[in-house]
Amino acid sequence: MRRTKIVATIGPATESPEMLDALIAAGMDVARLNSSHSGLDELALRLDAVRAASDRAARPVAVMLDLAGPKLRIGEVAEDSYLEPGADFSLVPGECAGDSSQACLNYTGLAEDIGRGDRLLLDDGTLELEVKGVEHGVVLTRVITGGPLASRKGVNAPGVDLGVDVITGYDREVLAWGLEAGVDFVAQSFVRSARDIERLRDLIAEADMPIVAKIETYAATTDIDAIVAASDAVMVARGDLGVETSAEEVPVLQRRIIESCRDAAVPVIVATQMLESMTSARRPTRAEASDVANAIFDRVDAVMLSAETAVGTYAAESVETMARIARRAEESGAWSSAVRRGAHDADDVTAAVSSAVCELAGDLALKAVVTATQSGATARAVARHRPSAPVVAVTPDSAVARRLCIVWGVRPLVVPLAEDTDLMLDSVIAAVRDAGLASPGQRVAVTAGISSRVPGATDFILVRRID
Ligand code: PGA
Ligand code: MN
Repeated sequence: MRRTKIVATIGPATESPEMLDALIAAGMDVARLNSSHSGLDELALRLDAVRAASDRAARPVAVMLDLAGPKLRIGEVAEDSYLEPGADFSLVPGECAGDSSQACLNYTGLAEDIGRGDRLLLDDGTLELEVKGVEHGVVLTRVITGGPLASRKGVNAPGVDLGVDVITGYDREVLAWGLEAGVDFVAQSFVRSARDIERLRDLIAEADMPIVAKIETYAATTDIDAIVAASDAVMVARGDLGVETSAEEVPVLQRRIIESCRDAAVPVIVATQMLESMTSARRPTRAEASDVANAIFDRVDAVMLSAETAVGTYAAESVETMARIARRAEESGAWSSAVRRGAHDADDVTAAVSSAVCELAGDLALKAVVTATQSGATARAVARHRPSAPVVAVTPDSAVARRLCIVWGVRPLVVPLAEDTDLMLDSVIAAVRDAGLASPGQRVAVTAGISSRVPGATDFILVRRID
């Protein structure tokens, strides 16, 4: 069984039932719906389509709703627009006809935030502008690095403190829909501090929706531990991160963010350009294969595909390729050597029991570590220690099962849990056997909270041979 999870972005190339079936068959664990490029109607259709495909496959697939956040974008520009190095180029707030000399911008406040000499990057940093000045709200620039300009490309102002709200009006609309429709995660873009996450949590109020913090601004990189502590999961969003900082900062930051997440037991996703060339090619570059494997060696929970699956020609092949690279990297065992065990306080029974069951998995060559879990907390606590055997999370709650789709090494299984402990253990073990996760004669350990009904209070390990 593959342990590393795969997040795939759903887009025009993959919204059909056939393609969703193919992505799930190839190994998609989490479907990302990106509100940057879609309106509510489209998001709703895609959510339904993913849920239906997950039902057809009888496999839990989580849906992550990605809030666009305050992404600056230019509007429509004429075809064949081209930025000539040295030429003048204006950014006009609101609506205008864009061409090689000007483009409109979806943010009216830029002229107030920016000053002469500031740099603006377009299209993921491919194009570079230098601000010459501001006139009647229009930002006047000179082209430093030129090239073709296409409609709706992103604009980054590295190091500039923009006056935009990190949660836009559109984000609020999308969030309200997502809470109502019941997505499994909400991802917050352009987070700058833990405070931004707390503000989103206030909006979510009592809905108990997990938040994925996307680390993609310079400000966020100066406050990583606090952001990780405030989040339910974290995404290393290398696309914007690389523009807001620089390409050479990305691998360094990636390591630091993963480490911080591991210490806090917060699931972490590495995202963007992992198999970029597969957007239009059947095979990945060697560098891309290494990138995916190295993220796994660094102990991420999940790896993500963006354009590869949203608009790529080889979407299912990209998921398959990622799954193959992951399985091979995991087989090599390179991820297991540096697991931090212990390091929990003497009162934390869950942590100690979870660590102990992972020890047993190795010593007894267990086929699976089975957790009976109401909230998913036990499964996360066990998976954190990277046991040698798969963690099977048996839960009565399909929403809990979907949330575990993002956690390394956890295979969720939806089964009703009996109140009576003996009955519960029998049914859990039967479910693991029936799902083909362990065969008669093989040994598994079951861990659960027995003596207390408090979710997550794991205090029990049973080792049993499957009969
Ligand atoms: P995006 O986020 O695809 O929503 O921009 C990921 C990134 O910036 O890397
Ligand atoms: Mn981004």
